[in-house]
Amino acid sequence: MLNLDSEIQYLKGIGSRRAQLFAKLGIKIVEDFLTFFPAQYQDRTKIISIKDIYKNLQGCIFVKVGKSCKRQFSQGLSILDIEIFDDTSMTYARFFRKNNPYSNIDVFATIRKAFEVGKFAYIYGDAKLERGERFISVNDYEIVQNEADKPLLFDKIVPVYSATEGLSQKFIRETVKTIVESSCMLYPDISNLIPRFDSIPTLQSSVAIQKIHYPNTLEDAENARRSFALQEFFILECALSLSRNNLKKNPKIQKYEIRKTLLTTFKNNLKFEFTRDQKKAINDIFADMQNIYPMNRMLMGDVGSGKTVVALSAALLAVENGYQTMIVAPTEILAEQHYLTILNMLEGLDVKIVLATSSTLKKKSEREKILAGFADDDIKIAIGTHALIEDRVKFKNLSLIIVDEQHRFGVMQKFAALDKAKSPDILMMTATPIPRALAMTVYGEMDMTTITQLPPGRTPVKTYSSNEQIAYTNTIKELKNGNQAYIVYPIIDESDKLALKSAVDESKKLPQTWFKDFKVGLLHGKMQPSEKNEIMRKFKNKEFSVLIATTVIEVGIDVPDATIMIIQHAERFGLSALHQLRGRIGRSSKQSYVYLIGSFNNEAAQKRLSIMTSTSNGFKIAEEDLKMRGPGELMGAAQHGFPEFKAGDLIKDADIIEFTKNHACEIAENDPDLSKNENIVLKNLISKYFLHKTKLINVG
Ligand code: ADP
Ligand code: MG
Repeated sequence: MLNLDSEIQYLKGIGSRRAQLFAKLGIKIVEDFLTFFPAQYQDRTKIISIKDIYKNLQGCIFVKVGKSCKRQFSQGLSILDIEIFDDTSMTYARFFRKNNPYSNIDVFATIRKAFEVGKFAYIYGDAKLERGERFISVNDYEIVQNEADKPLLFDKIVPVYSATEGLSQKFIRETVKTIVESSCMLYPDISNLIPRFDSIPTLQSSVAIQKIHYPNTLEDAENARRSFALQEFFILECALSLSRNNLKKNPKIQKYEIRKTLLTTFKNNLKFEFTRDQKKAINDIFADMQNIYPMNRMLMGDVGSGKTVVALSAALLAVENGYQTMIVAPTEILAEQHYLTILNMLEGLDVKIVLATSSTLKKKSEREKILAGFADDDIKIAIGTHALIEDRVKFKNLSLIIVDEQHRFGVMQKFAALDKAKSPDILMMTATPIPRALAMTVYGEMDMTTITQLPPGRTPVKTYSSNEQIAYTNTIKELKNGNQAYIVYPIIDESDKLALKSAVDESKKLPQTWFKDFKVGLLHGKMQPSEKNEIMRKFKNKEFSVLIATTVIEVGIDVPDATIMIIQHAERFGLSALHQLRGRIGRSSKQSYVYLIGSFNNEAAQKRLSIMTSTSNGFKIAEEDLKMRGPGELMGAAQHGFPEFKAGDLIKDADIIEFTKNHACEIAENDPDLSKNENIVLKNLISKYFLHKTKLINVG
């Protein structure tokens, strides 16, 4: 008996060699076949004339077969041209086959046999004009005896699947079809749990699966896809909702009251007013902290939007109430930068803070002093790297954990699970703006606050597509005014394969040529962390005017006098990477400039260039990036654990996500352990797909 988990190599007609090829397409078990949805469709419902196919360039024709003629095309390749006719015109149907030099078997035997003169053929293909020859490159065909005979593979919408070398489209189609027909009924269904939404038809999952593979119309296919997506997102949102409720289940111990003993002085010391968004963020956070359940909030805001003061306000509320806070940054240099900024902002306030990184904890005497300070509550705010997570770090009164620049799904659990505090309030911060729909799935288990406006008085960075001559000349002008510049390269070392300029190479050339009057530094990913820190520190202290770098320049790094960034081979960077890089400059009221240098000779690169030069809105850029590249890449390859959707589309289905989120909350509220009979399938689905990702869910 076949079940959803049956491995496909044991299925009839597959075997281990083909199973390996299917594995490349992500298909390992029967279930994977069911949800191996078509990458696109061929609409073979419309038959067009030969004349029209040369206008449409692709389509379906119905023709009478004439003579065929084989020709050697090149050493390894033969072509077979078959005359075909309809009422409008005559042309050739062309097939290509590789020659086998060791055999004289006619590679076209089957095709010749099928295309008998006088028979009729349905052909789906591409109309081509190459080297003065017009022909139809045949994608698929079906021969019928008589003009009136009904075709099997034509007159319908045909699925087109992603294929891989060694597996033909035909074989994939047939295999999928056999399995969908025999097994789609086994697919779990929760359509009965989901209220009707909008115009999406309520389809049982097995029906939706069938219709996605074999729709009657393209509209049918889209409706079925949306219906399946509804179930997919519903399962995800339920998982997230349950996980969130579980976190909130245990009331916390710490209590905060806004005493203003520190907060008011802090606010008065600042040289600026909070922006509207900062005020809202602080309100959200204070409300969370005063709630009886632990805070679990994500603060999202573009680079430079001013998240640090928001975080610091939260820390001071904790300190005012006699608790300790830890602020964790992903790298030493960011931790150090936070430390210095915060030290500065807390001047005149009686709050002891310490920088705890592997460097500052290295020396035994220093380490003991710091650890003792945490343990006896002398130090109120610990700022550091992951070194703070180590077991030996113990706090007397820790109540708040702030994690900066961390946007990885699942990281939060790690912090919640830390036993440095009983029920800590957690605030995560990220400068990677992502579209709302994506955020709801990635951060679905957290409450969310977004800072959308930048502090006033910033001069927006000007971005140009440029050449070296202009970029370097303008850079020198800026350097002479005491400003600094980054020059970013996509690769570290010279590469034989790619004719690209590299950071190391150019760091040798440029100080001899363009920048001989200036100090030039080099920073790249192969350097030791301590070496990188040293270089960044020197750049910040203006010991270098120019920093040649790869993309390692940290998110969040603040060098106010860096007003120029030149990005070499900019066509090789994705939109988000370009935006993140751009965020390193424009960090003061001075005008800053980005020069994108590269050859933007394909459509995608052109599009990226035009987006970069026309907007600096991180959310807009993220959305465009998502459209161009898909969510997986957007979140980065290291984004492990990001849920994968078989039918769901984070852009087209944003409305579905919003809808399922609300209904998922209801279910989680009414049946927190999913113990009711009607929720049993849902419960199984959640433990199957999400248990390993959202460990805090109490089901399964
Ligand atoms: P990010 O959100 O990228 O962490 P930061 O907190 O580092 O941003 O803030 C960037 C800069 O903006 C800092 O120099 C900070 O002092 C300044 N800043 C923050 N809030 C305001 C404000 N409301 N008005 C003016 N400047 C501000
Ligand atoms: Mg920051």
